[in-house]
Amino acid sequence: EAPMSIPHLAILPSPGMGHLIPLIEFAKRLLSHRLTFTFIIPSDGPPSHPQRALLNSLPSGINHLFLPPVAFDDLPAASKIETIITLTISRSLPSLRNVLKSMVAKSNLVGLVVDLFGTDAFDLAKQFNISSYMFFPSNAMLLSFALFLPKLDESVAGEFRDLPEPIKIPGCIQIEGKDLLDPVQDRKNEAYKWILHNAKRYALADGIFLNSFPELEPGAIQYLREEEAGKPPVYPIGPLVKIDADEKEERAECLKWLDEQPHGSVLFVSFGSGGTLSSDQINELALGLEMSGQRFIWVVRSPSNKAADATYFSVHSQSDPLDFLPEGFIERTKNRGLVVPSWAPQAQILSHSSTGGFLTHCGWNSTLESVVNGIPLIAWPLYAEQRMNAVMLTEEIEVALRPKRNEKNGLVEKEEISKVVKSVLEGEEGKKLRGKMKELKEAGERVVGEDGSSRKIVSDLVNKWKAKISG
Ligand code: UDP
Repeated sequence: EAPMSIPHLAILPSPGMGHLIPLIEFAKRLLSHRLTFTFIIPSDGPPSHPQRALLNSLPSGINHLFLPPVAFDDLPAASKIETIITLTISRSLPSLRNVLKSMVAKSNLVGLVVDLFGTDAFDLAKQFNISSYMFFPSNAMLLSFALFLPKLDESVAGEFRDLPEPIKIPGCIQIEGKDLLDPVQDRKNEAYKWILHNAKRYALADGIFLNSFPELEPGAIQYLREEEAGKPPVYPIGPLVKIDADEKEERAECLKWLDEQPHGSVLFVSFGSGGTLSSDQINELALGLEMSGQRFIWVVRSPSNKAADATYFSVHSQSDPLDFLPEGFIERTKNRGLVVPSWAPQAQILSHSSTGGFLTHCGWNSTLESVVNGIPLIAWPLYAEQRMNAVMLTEEIEVALRPKRNEKNGLVEKEEISKVVKSVLEGEEGKKLRGKMKELKEAGERVVGEDGSSRKIVSDLVNKWKAKISG
């Protein structure tokens, strides 16, 4: 087959490992249908180490290129990540235009795929007469909220967190205003304007790929699949998760350590790529893990007392994170605990048979990685839409326990941490959560298996693209 008969998709991930990782899995899933992909990477500086490692490991058929970095010298220092992410995209449009132009000339470019912050690029897709798609890297609940936001914005005057009644997102469990995603908590902030700007443009997509599946979010997905004016077609194609078994590299120390531990006995503790805790909270978490007497692997970052998403763009801590642990902690827990600075091979840890629980910030990728391995959760949301995810995971799906904060000092204290860790790893409650996770794991396998709903949606779309280029 000549290259001209193979459909080509351009993919524009917005900054952040949590956006890049699932988009790469999306491309890998479609690769077997004989398509080619080019990742077009916008940025405001050099790529982080994990980002480069990921891009360099892509299989043939998936290429990548970097757009020239954009500058943010004019932005106030306090700008929120949603503002910076959206502006990274909009300031990259001129260079994206040049790249798309040459792709249209040299290949069978059928579509441009962006993620939740990339809707400004839809205008370029229109200009080049290719389809505009969005890959939504979070769940059906957040997508339903985003599609509902323009209406909510018009009907509510003050802050959503001051509403006396919980908010009814179509198809979803009720949610308190204060639990909605961070950038809608302050409607005067630029970040809110950018979220609303993108949300209003979702309707322009020719389709939205969703990393979820009906058995996981029945109500929300049923709602999203109903045809309605202003609602683009929604394609649930999940669970798409990273499987990072890189045989070229030496197996990480923590995996060898896991090999030595009993089945299902280890708690994995990690707050995603961007999560950081305050110094007091790191201290309580350490003491709580110690008090629980359970085994653990903890990905530790240096504290940040300012923002809970301090390492979002860099992943790595500036100083040695291990310096911030309580005195003697590593020594006292050395026979049953392992501390890993900044970044660990999470997908491999979660699929290891010694792992029995996951204390997570509830990022959607982390959640799905736990679902496909049937691992029950401890929900510890920090930023973005993670509080919404935590509500859904604890109250609706019932696969997580959520430790309570002391309202006075804002900390989750060691006694509470110890109690929840014990319940999940060895208590009756943990058994219930594990049973529910196992059902979801099996459903997740079915939907991507032969005749599964996620697989069928993908092959129907690929057939459409192929028909388009041959006709
Ligand atoms: N991740 C990892 N090692 C780490 C931290 C994160 O491999 O130490 C991966 C994790 O497996 C997931 C992604 O980074 O695929 C994080 O995405 P998620 O949506 O959970 O959270 P975000 O980082 O976007 O807040």
